[in-house]
Amino acid sequence: MPKRRAQAEGERQLKTVVRPIQLVTLERMLVTPSVAQQVSLSPAAKSQEDKMASQTLVEQFRQDIGNVSSTVDERQLRQKSHDFHWYSPVLTPQLQNCLADVVVQPRSEEEIAAVVVAAVKHRIPLTVRGGGTGNYGQSVPLKGGVLVDMTGFNKVTAVESGSIRVQAGAVIGTALEAALASGQQLMMYPSTMRSATIGGYLGGGFAGIGSVRHGIIRDSGMIQSVRIMTIEEPPRILTLSGDDVGFVFHSWGTTGIILEAQLKLVPAEKWIDCIATFPTYGDVIAFGNAAFDSDLDIFLLSAVERRFGPFYKRLHKYFDGSRDAIRPIDRIGTANTKNVTLSPAASVSGRPRRRE
Ligand SMILES: Cc1cc2nc3c(=O)[nH]c(=O)nc-3n(C[C@H](O)[C@H](O)[C@H](O)COP(=O)(O)OP(=O)(O)OC[C@H]3O[C@@H](n4cnc5c(N)ncnc54)[C@H](O)[C@@H]3O)c2cc1C
Repeated sequence: MPKRRAQAEGERQLKTVVRPIQLVTLERMLVTPSVAQQVSLSPAAKSQEDKMASQTLVEQFRQDIGNVSSTVDERQLRQKSHDFHWYSPVLTPQLQNCLADVVVQPRSEEEIAAVVVAAVKHRIPLTVRGGGTGNYGQSVPLKGGVLVDMTGFNKVTAVESGSIRVQAGAVIGTALEAALASGQQLMMYPSTMRSATIGGYLGGGFAGIGSVRHGIIRDSGMIQSVRIMTIEEPPRILTLSGDDVGFVFHSWGTTGIILEAQLKLVPAEKWIDCIATFPTYGDVIAFGNAAFDSDLDIFLLSAVERRFGPFYKRLHKYFDGSRDAIRPIDRIGTANTKNVTLSPAASVSGRPRRRE
């Protein structure tokens, strides 16, 4: 996809993603609204009677799932019930009391099926979670119920010429390493690749490092096929490919649980990571636009305001929060970001880390 079209599409998608629709769509995950009323109230709002009813339901649910790992430990319920929605001053107060009643961590398709069967039987809401790095509360259980932590289902099942098969709970970095070992790489991945999962990226992400070249996930042809499990009794396992992948891509887990994905691979290349800092954010944008319009073979252009500096602890040496920054990743050997410093006030740091 031409860079300009990718950018326009990216902006359009971003507008779509940013609107607060996930609060509505997540509710579609509920097995039925009436069940939600049984186990959905936030802890503060639950009456003693409600609490006992939901505890009884959860106990029956746990008995039915047998050996599948599960917990009702309060600390773990809190930790797994939240994602990176705290970036938003709007979502933070809305979601702070949302809490799952039980967290499960299945490790096989059979265990995932056992969870689905029991949730449907007891009509308990079910929310799927990968690494919990989503920014919009997509993996927050709005109505309590079962939180399905997919990170235990995490194997790379096959690396072939041109594609990789990965279970949904695998961390993206693991898939990338497996691909690199075969001289190939993923077409794109988010900067959260060390904690985000394949299922979460397909269920809630939309672009990433590599998108300047390959476009957004949906248009890139990156998803070759997905295996999913439906939420019904009995659950069905379907393999979707072609346009049908759209039924689960960017659906926040509301249309089924992604079990495994087959993703397209491209030949691995060497990339270099740089950070350039500028006195104003306007300079950052001007640099980004000029780099984008140049012949540079760019993998990522990421503009960051100085107020986010403190969160980039590992990069403090290059970006301490005193100036605004841009992080271009471009191809070694074609052109180097150091050659496109447009402003005399720009300070560019080539980082030693290289992506092979
Ligand atoms: C600092 C930062 C940088 C980011 N950069 C990017 C970026 O470059 N590009 C980008 O696209 N996003 C980005 N994100 C958002 C987020 O990291 C990505 O969407 C990421 O891929 C989510 O993966 P996860 O495993 O953490 O998913 P979660 O947050 O756990 O889940 C995301 C959604 O997917 C659903 N889900 C999870 N697993 C499954 C499954 N197996 N089946 C069905 N549904 C499932 C969840 O229910 C939820 O709705 C960023 C976030 C942060 C905090």
